[in-house]
Amino acid sequence: MPVRRFGRPSPVVMVDRGVLTDESLTPTARLIYALLLACLDTETGSHEVARLAGLASVDDMQPFLDELESVGAADVMDHVGAGQVITVHESPLLPEQRTHACIPCQDCGACSCEYIKGMCRPCSHIRDVREQARADIARWQQEVDQGKTYAVGSGGARLHRWDCSSLNTVERSVGSLEDAIKAAKAGADPGYIYWPQLPKLYSAEELRRKGSKKRNCGLCGPDPL
Ligand SMILES: [Zn+2]
Ligand SMILES: [Zn+2]
Ligand SMILES: [Zn+2]
Repeated sequence: MPVRRFGRPSPVVMVDRGVLTDESLTPTARLIYALLLACLDTETGSHEVARLAGLASVDDMQPFLDELESVGAADVMDHVGAGQVITVHESPLLPEQRTHACIPCQDCGACSCEYIKGMCRPCSHIRDVREQARADIARWQQEVDQGKTYAVGSGGARLHRWDCSSLNTVERSVGSLEDAIKAAKAGADPGYIYWPQLPKLYSAEELRRKGSKKRNCGLCGPDPL
């Protein structure tokens, strides 16, 4: 079974003093705790950890892992999509933080134990981007309702009519967001999920007040200011 990271990567091994000096733990359990931390982010698997601890097999490690689990220093659980995983905690978990089962993401059902319990990292990002989209659409709609008929696109170089066909529309932005989410669900990097911002809209007065010197878009030809 794989040894999974729980905490940030570091070239130096930080071992919790309380666990390493806990006299209620056997020396082997304390050594396994230090070894598990030392093997994070490496190719070293649980077989190698067992061998380094002087044990013949991973199965022999179980009683010592049980000891570590009793103090919140490590646990062995079945995680959705990963099977049995040893998780080592850089800081031991308090009794109220310990769980005895994998907590699936409420949005996608995948294991969420490495992020916010109940919400995996990609789904949390998707929720944030959807919230940005909601706020941006509301802002754009309000500007349309206020009768702002000029637009500055994302590049900011030219002045357009608010409905110029070269600008992002709600439909296009939503379409591209949903495509990116679909691609991420099919295995693409969720980092590519973002909201293509809608153009900022202005009234003629606002632009005159700003002393706008932007060149007019040749495609839509906005009314002269
Ligand atoms: Zn899990
Ligand atoms: Zn999720
Ligand atoms: Zn235009």
